[in-house]
Amino acid sequence: MSFRAPVRDIAHALGVVGFDRLRELPAFAELDADTTSAVLDAAGAFTSERLAPLNRVGDTVGARYENGAVFSPPGFSQAYRDFAAGGWCGLSAELEYGGQGLPKALELAVYEMVHSANLAFGLCPVLNVGAIEALQEAGTARQKSLFLPPLIDGRWTGTMNLTEPQAGSDLAALTARAEPAGEGRYKLYGEKIFITWGEHDVADNIVHLVLARLPGAPAGVKGISLFIAPKFLVGADGKAGARNGLRAASIEHKLGIHASPTCVMLYDGAEAELLGRANEGLAVMFVMMNAARLQVGMQGVGIGEMAYQRALAYALERKQGRAALSKEYPARIFDHPEVRRSLLLMKAQVEAARAIVLMAGVFLDRARHAQSAEGRAAAQARADLLTPIAKAWSTDMGVAVASAGLQIHGGMGFIEETGAAQYYRDARITPIYEGTNAIQANDLVGRKLGDGGNAAFALIAEIAADAKAARADARFAAVASYLQAAATALETATHWQLAHRGADGLAGANAYLALFGDTLGGWLLLRGAQQAPDGVWGRNKAVLADLFATQILSLAPGRAEAAMTGAAALTAIDAEALVA
Ligand SMILES: Cc1cc2nc3c(=O)[nH]c(=O)nc-3n(C[C@H](O)[C@H](O)[C@H](O)COP(=O)(O)OP(=O)(O)OC[C@H]3O[C@@H](n4cnc5c(N)ncnc54)[C@H](O)[C@@H]3O)c2cc1C
Repeated sequence: MSFRAPVRDIAHALGVVGFDRLRELPAFAELDADTTSAVLDAAGAFTSERLAPLNRVGDTVGARYENGAVFSPPGFSQAYRDFAAGGWCGLSAELEYGGQGLPKALELAVYEMVHSANLAFGLCPVLNVGAIEALQEAGTARQKSLFLPPLIDGRWTGTMNLTEPQAGSDLAALTARAEPAGEGRYKLYGEKIFITWGEHDVADNIVHLVLARLPGAPAGVKGISLFIAPKFLVGADGKAGARNGLRAASIEHKLGIHASPTCVMLYDGAEAELLGRANEGLAVMFVMMNAARLQVGMQGVGIGEMAYQRALAYALERKQGRAALSKEYPARIFDHPEVRRSLLLMKAQVEAARAIVLMAGVFLDRARHAQSAEGRAAAQARADLLTPIAKAWSTDMGVAVASAGLQIHGGMGFIEETGAAQYYRDARITPIYEGTNAIQANDLVGRKLGDGGNAAFALIAEIAADAKAARADARFAAVASYLQAAATALETATHWQLAHRGADGLAGANAYLALFGDTLGGWLLLRGAQQAPDGVWGRNKAVLADLFATQILSLAPGRAEAAMTGAAALTAIDAEALVA
């Protein structure tokens, strides 16, 4: 079964989250509807024709390590070069350096299709996007002119080097060090693990962005600096020359994303230069990480969409028994109520997550390009609030949907040939990297409610107002009433979280994030149904919103209870008795 790019659904979701109004900003004044659909159509064609056919060979052959070199699976190198030549690495990058200056939201929409077609491939250009963001944010004029053009046109790729054996979620523990070598240059020493696309053969150079400590730097996160260390040293003319003192020592054998090399990187006196100011590296890295978090959220959407498509195709083809929704014997399994319910819920969840991530993207665009400082600050606050939800809710959804898709295949789902198992395996990394989903939940109840809950309450008020208004329309009254109840539950849980910082709040952080995501998802599906055109396609949107409301929004009061339980049970447990 091939990948069918869901261009119409994606364009609809962009409309729902206010993408068209970005045109009011001078930066996007020339972005017309034709350009947007041309970009989406072209991405749909490239991903389905070029990337999806490589997904299986990527999984079965995988990346190969040999004497420090890493070889990508057959077809990947050419596909990457063609992808880069198509301009797909620099969609949202600044025009000045060869980018296309398009909105982040449109870039995310394009990358959803990349992730659906080939998750392991997509990681490579996603890291370019992150490195471009960091350089645009913190690079000197020289650094920008040397590194941005080849990253944007895709001749070179980027990486992010944070993790070390003892420093995963806790970056304060990292020990890689940088020694000054004169004239603003440094030598890097240390070991980084799990570095995605840290070594490969698909591009001519690799620009590693590496977190390390300078001599005498303060302990903890306040003493971390960010460095640029290219695989091949870059001359003043921008040309790549001699090999730098860094190398991949090995690649990992993983549950999924086999085509994406996950490298142990050794830095042994590698030449590097500071990106941004000394000891302020984490703030710059966060620019990259926030961009990457939305991309990982989109990976959840992409893999969910693909799992749904494959399960739908199987359900329409496979026949078993008598079914309550058909007179045929044997009936398609699609006609068994449970299979159909599961499939439609998969679709509803994917559409909800798509809208959440795209909405975060739209606010990021506004945060950068709104004309007034107040407009930029308000949009940034909304984007900041949405980012952990977009990452964690969408990736948990992706895993759940991939699992549901496998279940619909029955025993064939457990057999590798159908492909359903690969989506499940590939999806499983997404709640782990880029800050585990627990870290996202901590971030949501901690930093993101740190403004006294202002950003959260403003969003909840919008949802509640829309729900109230929708109750007047008989077509949406039922969904609206579930949504109102969910918004009330979320508001109550938000007050509770604000009153219970520390262990009690953190014990409910995961449930709070799930409740927030569910409520946002239900809201955006309702909006999608309201804005859908007449006809069968549009009516399906109302069915999906309804299903999501009855199956998921209906659970909101229980989710709120879980979010407000506190840590009493966790502290009451006798940890030693557990292992006795
Ligand atoms: C395939 C793959 C690709 C990766 N790519 C990159 C990359 O390109 N660059 C890079 O730098 N890193 C990369 N990583 C590393 C990844 O980001 C880390 O694995 C992740 O941040 C978690 O760190 P850890 O594995 O050390 O787990 P740990 O931090 O040891 O966490 C273990 C468990 O404890 C939980 N936990 C830890 N701290 C807390 C807390 N404060 N609150 C609640 N729960 C907590 C976690 O949620 C998790 O469930 C990659 C990892 C993999 C597997």
